[in-house]
Amino acid sequence: MELIPLFTSDPLLQQIILFLGELALLFLIIVAFIGFILFFLFVYAIKTDFFLFPEFLKAGVMFLEGFMRSLFKIFGVPDYEVLQVMVRLHNTLNKKRFTETSVARRAIFIPHCLRAIACPAHLHPEEGLKCRSCGLCSIGYAKKMLQQVGYMVFIVPGSSFIKRLVQEHRPKAIVGIGCLLEVKEGNVMAERYGLVSMGVVSTKDGCVETEVDWDKVFEIALLGIDPQSVPKELRKFLPQ
Ligand code: SF4
Repeated sequence: MELIPLFTSDPLLQQIILFLGELALLFLIIVAFIGFILFFLFVYAIKTDFFLFPEFLKAGVMFLEGFMRSLFKIFGVPDYEVLQVMVRLHNTLNKKRFTETSVARRAIFIPHCLRAIACPAHLHPEEGLKCRSCGLCSIGYAKKMLQQVGYMVFIVPGSSFIKRLVQEHRPKAIVGIGCLLEVKEGNVMAERYGLVSMGVVSTKDGCVETEVDWDKVFEIALLGIDPQSVPKELRKFLPQ
């Protein structure tokens, strides 16, 4: 208030500056209020694995990203927890469209780091790893089951392969397996390509012999699939 005369002695201008100041303050209060609501919705999702107002949550966290990051830091919410919730939120929002997509237009991308160290398969420059179903890791079985369901299944060394395969095979929906960052980046890439994506985060990271919860992969993969076309080994993963 006392500083205003330093800038101007024009009463009208003073009024305008005051008004703008109040407006900015009001904006900050609203942003802080929404930020705290989002924060509590986020913590609720972490605790219960259930999302209240998921669209609002996703839009809000994206819009107020910097502010939300600060809040998470102040309250000690670790980055990996935030990313995990964002992946689950993304899946929740995409679930309906994914379920409605025909399996013939779905692809699943398995990272090649899931294979055994002694994997005898070779990398095909166009199609990724050509799994021989040798039994040394779980990929062979999972690939066979998912192909029986009707999926295009690719075992890939990285995102550049995924982009190429997407352009070539034109799926409408994809399931991506990977570490937190890979899944996050995969979701961003999928949105750019207009794909419905569902992510499954690996349970053990690294460069070799990583692990994933295949039950989770099958649960997602079987969304919207006609039970008659599901191999009997996978029927327990059908949604109830
Ligand atoms: S099952 Fe397939 S991916 Fe796994 S080790 Fe054997 S050939 Fe490699």
